[in-house]
Amino acid sequence: MARVLYWFRTDLRLHDSPALLAALNLKPAALFPVWCWDPNYIYKHRVGLNRFRFLLESMQDVSDGITKINPLSQLLVVRGDPSDLLPELFKRWSITHCVFEQDVNGYARERDKKVQDAAKKAGVEVVIEPGHHLWDVEEILKKHGGKPTMSMKALEGAVKGLGDPARPVDAPTKLPSPLLKGKSEPSERKALLSELRKTLEGLPEYSKKPGPPKVDLNSAELGGQRKPDGKVTCYDTLTGPDQDAKDGDKDNFTVPTLASLGMDPAACGAAPEASVPGGETEALRRLEKICKDAAYVATFAKPKTSPSSDTLEPSTTLLSPFLKFGCLSIRKLWWDTQDVIDNYKGSKTSPPENLHGQLLFREMYAVAELAVGDPFQGIRGNKVSRYMDWYLPTHYDKEGNKIEPRPRGDDVSESRLEAFRAGQTGFPWIDALIRQLRLTGWVHHLGRHSLASFLTRGQCWISWERGSEVFEEWLLDWDPNANPGNWMWLSCSAFFAQYFRVYGIATFPAKYDKSGGHVRKYCPELANFPDKFIYAPHTAPMEVQKKAGCIIGKDYPFPILDEKEEKARCLNRCKAAYDIGFYGTSKEVLEGKAEGI
Ligand code: FAD
Repeated sequence: MARVLYWFRTDLRLHDSPALLAALNLKPAALFPVWCWDPNYIYKHRVGLNRFRFLLESMQDVSDGITKINPLSQLLVVRGDPSDLLPELFKRWSITHCVFEQDVNGYARERDKKVQDAAKKAGVEVVIEPGHHLWDVEEILKKHGGKPTMSMKALEGAVKGLGDPARPVDAPTKLPSPLLKGKSEPSERKALLSELRKTLEGLPEYSKKPGPPKVDLNSAELGGQRKPDGKVTCYDTLTGPDQDAKDGDKDNFTVPTLASLGMDPAACGAAPEASVPGGETEALRRLEKICKDAAYVATFAKPKTSPSSDTLEPSTTLLSPFLKFGCLSIRKLWWDTQDVIDNYKGSKTSPPENLHGQLLFREMYAVAELAVGDPFQGIRGNKVSRYMDWYLPTHYDKEGNKIEPRPRGDDVSESRLEAFRAGQTGFPWIDALIRQLRLTGWVHHLGRHSLASFLTRGQCWISWERGSEVFEEWLLDWDPNANPGNWMWLSCSAFFAQYFRVYGIATFPAKYDKSGGHVRKYCPELANFPDKFIYAPHTAPMEVQKKAGCIIGKDYPFPILDEKEEKARCLNRCKAAYDIGFYGTSKEVLEGKAEGI
């Protein structure tokens, strides 16, 4: 009889999960739905409080969903390096099969290989199913000759032979429980879980030895999760020995809460309540609501949606965090909207600007990342990133390891980067967007354009790697493909080359919102400026500033740079970089260790 360990990772849902379906097709006598806190992964990535909260809510929702189907089951949250811990669980729980959704990103590839090898040794069969994308990303890459998909045309060409994405399937109506042992009453779940808990005794993460010292999760920099020396601290409570466990009576499989982890939204600059609640239930509710508005779905045109929108009234779908954590099946989104579009009688939009076009961009970056590998996250060794002589690039030691924390660069660029992060650039549009990002975890696509353009080739000429890190920390929907991919696009390092098209810091938002509602909301100190000055308050006469109750230079900063002057400088630098035409890093290209595209 099969005893299946189902490993949740990028698929926090029960509907349309090819991997979960594959697990159930094994007709298991016992199903162990596991979530594993992986210290390697957690330490590698910056995860701000908003995304963390979204993840915890999504885990809780999937756990509740499991219990709803089988009152004797729930998500089993465990802690430890999966390549060590899962083989232990295989042994202790007599697992015959380990099933999970394919994850082709850099770190995941390595981790999964280790788990597969360990499973093989233990005689456990591993089943991996693609499910995070419209098609199997490995198949798309093969169709594209192993080359990165650098344009929508390339992506569309590559998926042509793959047919339509599969139609979604419903959530299962039955799920076996772990460790049945004849128990059948819902009230017995706790007893059953504490029995299961005992099987973990002796594992390092579950020993009763005192754990690492408790740290103040909120006082450090980077949203309270990094010490000034650059080390990530907060997850010690998740990944170290369980310091609060009382002998045997604590159910360690439950999903933690922000409070139980000692994380405080206020101290991290995040909104007290989630701006976008996480979970499959919420994702399906949102999708259903969107699909009720047929005209919106069928005539969706990204460039026409307003960047001055927020999580309360987003002008785009705001489904990205749900796709990121797999709370929503991408195929369900594709087909539910396709059905609406098919039934719509009026004229319709098409890719790349329509809704399906957006989903294809997601595929395009995933295939490009798979082709490039881990270097896709930065410039060094990244064969698609054009060499541009940015300020504040990432530094490496002699062995090629990233130096953390990054050594300080020149003072002007450092202070510009700090002002950018703090929402204190003196450019209200930029400041409103970054403050919105930190507070809520989401910014409209064109807002992200404005931020990325400003920090890189538009004005500051700071490496896109630095901006990508800020987004990595604060975005709810941070994605290892879309984030670096879009930063490369916006900085004209890859995917897009029209460097002469630069967003006006005041003129661009004014096209969508003349009275600057977004600025008034996120930069309240500017709320009383007349419309005329809302995007450039430093140009307002002193009388106007006094009347608005905000003196520029005192209550709100002067602009940190001259927009036009810096734009002209950046254009020259872009031109020079394009004339040279290096990719990767200049050193590597010159030494013949990197290739162009
Ligand atoms: P919608 O417009 O409703 O689009 C529907 C879905 O399509 C999105 O949920 C998303 O999954 C996908 N999508 C849309 N645009 C893109 C795009 N340009 N690239 C890839 N997928 C896209 N998106 C992320 O999901 N994660 C990121 O880390 C991320 N980082 C970005 C960084 C920069 C500098 C920029 C300019 C864009 C980034 N994007 C990222 C892409 C895009 O801004 C977001 O996907 C989108 O704004 C999310 O809002 P939405 O769900 O309302 O999008």
